[in-house]
Amino acid sequence: MSLPAPIESRLLAMLHARTDTLEAGDPIPEPLVLSSAFALPSNPDARRTYARYTNPTIEATEARLAALEDAPCLLFPSGMGAYSAAFMALLKGGDRVLMLSDGYYAARNLVSDIMAPFGVVLETCPAANILTADLAGYAAVVVETPSNPGLDVIDLRALAERCRTAGAKLVVDNTVLTPLLQQPLDLGADIVIVSDTKAMAGHTDVLMGHVASRDAAYMERLLSVRNLTGNIPAPYEAWLLLRGLETVELRLERMCANARATLPLLQASEAVSEVIYPDPSPQALDQGFLIGATFASAGAADRFLERAGFAKMTSFGGLHSSGDRRARWGDTVPEGFLRLSFGVEPTAALIDAVQAALADG
Ligand code: PLP
Repeated sequence: MSLPAPIESRLLAMLHARTDTLEAGDPIPEPLVLSSAFALPSNPDARRTYARYTNPTIEATEARLAALEDAPCLLFPSGMGAYSAAFMALLKGGDRVLMLSDGYYAARNLVSDIMAPFGVVLETCPAANILTADLAGYAAVVVETPSNPGLDVIDLRALAERCRTAGAKLVVDNTVLTPLLQQPLDLGADIVIVSDTKAMAGHTDVLMGHVASRDAAYMERLLSVRNLTGNIPAPYEAWLLLRGLETVELRLERMCANARATLPLLQASEAVSEVIYPDPSPQALDQGFLIGATFASAGAADRFLERAGFAKMTSFGGLHSSGDRRARWGDTVPEGFLRLSFGVEPTAALIDAVQAALADG
């Protein structure tokens, strides 16, 4: 994977954030600090007071994310924790929000089930129509690209321009491609949300999320929301994310290469009626590690996962290749549709396993 120089600089800044500041005798990796309270002499303006506001491990992880996003970041205990704080800081009663009808369902349900009683109004639109939708009167437009699970691509620069004209804030969920492969803030988005549970942490052992924005007033309000709702992660989980971030580029490189290498097998197979592997260039730096593949039935999809040795699970972005049959969650996709997430297995061996699984089908 070849990254353009500005993104390599962000990656280097993220990787060197600690080593650049080390003094003799310091531990090389980021220490895990579990303290919930901090020495507080008589000065109420002390930098750290109580861990519901911040903690050294949370700060260190946020600094790494800020280097990657090239923007201030705040950490939350899950992607949905990030969504809920981002919306609380952005929306008020009477606001209309436009979201994707075919995007991640929990984000929509957050507005329809939890925020609607506070007066926030949810309206939806398919990803395929968002660029031609009338955006007048919306407080915010919330999108994913590629979207989950249909993998539709939305031109973010064009949408940002339309949102600006309409006076709506553009919120982009960048979970699928990560800040390494796609930079929504550089393309004009106001706010970015990422579920770091997926490829950013990458080891399927932690829930985490972050919000990034270059709007200082918004970030101040977001911090206030986090302080007052207590929606802050525990330091150990943040430390696991930090550790995952150090290898995110290496993992993504293999994951994307594995998806690319497997694509022709899926496309050529009679067991697969449709393959979706969107090309989000030029706004993204790679096609990513997710492929949508439709098998004849739920049973055929499950058998493929078992024979290929893919984990059956409802997440993505981890070390192990996996698949999720999205119809079971109510997504409007065929029963045999799998969202495949490619892991870091050796490419030739993975191809052999997929080839054998498809031949058995
Ligand atoms: N955004 C997308 C695109 C997702 O797929 C998910 C979870 O699957 C989330 C957000 C929510 O993240 P989390 O599960 O970390 O709360």
